[in-house]
Amino acid sequence: MDPSWLFLAFLLVFTLSRGLFPNSYPGLTETTYFWMGILGMLGLFGSIVLHEFGHAWVAQRFGLPMRGITLFLFGGVAEMSEESPGPAAEFWMAIAGPTVSALILICCLTLSFLGKMHGWPVPFTGLFTYIAFMNGILIAFNLVPAFPLDGGRILRAALWQWKKSLPKATRIASTFGKWFGSLLIFMGIFNAIQGEVLGGIWWVLIGLFLRQSADASYKQILFQQHLEGKSLKQFVKTDVVTVPSNIDIRILVDEYFHQHYFKGYPVLENGELAGYIAIRQIRQFPTEEWTKHAVKEIMVPATPDNTISSQSDAMTALTQIQKTGLSTLMVVEGRHLVGLLSLKDLLRFLSMELELEDEGSGSATK
Ligand SMILES: [Zn+2]
Repeated sequence: MDPSWLFLAFLLVFTLSRGLFPNSYPGLTETTYFWMGILGMLGLFGSIVLHEFGHAWVAQRFGLPMRGITLFLFGGVAEMSEESPGPAAEFWMAIAGPTVSALILICCLTLSFLGKMHGWPVPFTGLFTYIAFMNGILIAFNLVPAFPLDGGRILRAALWQWKKSLPKATRIASTFGKWFGSLLIFMGIFNAIQGEVLGGIWWVLIGLFLRQSADASYKQILFQQHLEGKSLKQFVKTDVVTVPSNIDIRILVDEYFHQHYFKGYPVLENGELAGYIAIRQIRQFPTEEWTKHAVKEIMVPATPDNTISSQSDAMTALTQIQKTGLSTLMVVEGRHLVGLLSLKDLLRFLSMELELEDEGSGSATK
């Protein structure tokens, strides 16, 4: 559960017990409104959780392990550890959430009608009506065909089935996602100018989130498609200039940085990899101190973060680069340096693959 949910809970209880419920059902006591606010908030949050459980349950039936469900500002995200096995699975997983919401809506609506018919206390019928209404909104919003919303996933499943290509389907569906995100941002700014600042900010946030996650999921698919299972070896630069660990910074600068123009060098000690030295580590020392410090003292030691086994595949490398924020990894076999892998080379390869794919889109076999 994201901490934003706690904030949202307060905000919701406040608006419900001070605004919505007193306006819709006048004549009740403050305490009653307060409890209605609490129960309304729990009802809405419970509805979102059940919606996500719907996704998770179907995913599990298709053999996709769920890593978890994150509940945050605008609802929930069911985290699948891998992509769906096919368009059918994707469709059923996507539709499961809105189906659960529809069931809750029907139940609450029925209860609210029964309550009104049989004269149940107003707070009960009021709560059921509210929860039914909110589930209606949840369904409507989630069914907008904007990836990664549920509707966008359904669209992607249909396109996947039709085009027989997950990357293409994702590209189209996530384009809708970005458009819808932009629309929400625009609406939010418009609302804010009209004086509804809080509501406006809300829409802008949701829009930004949608745009960003549509873009990220598309990129992730492309990366996976092209890098998974691909050997690292073809990306590794093996003619690497290395630096011995015992020279001082003066020599390092004169004989390496001024000679080879690389921004960083692996450091070797007795033929084994010891660390990495880049301009950033040198800059902290004034020029006159350069002869006083050896490379060994100031280098970044080799760790599992900045090294990767030559046996890994390219997707593992990219994931590590994304996680650590490093632009270069040292490729090793045991403690022996094999070469360097740079994000730039991976991206250059990817952009070329994508251009080739566009050229050959008429005869795609995937
Ligand atoms: Zn959903």
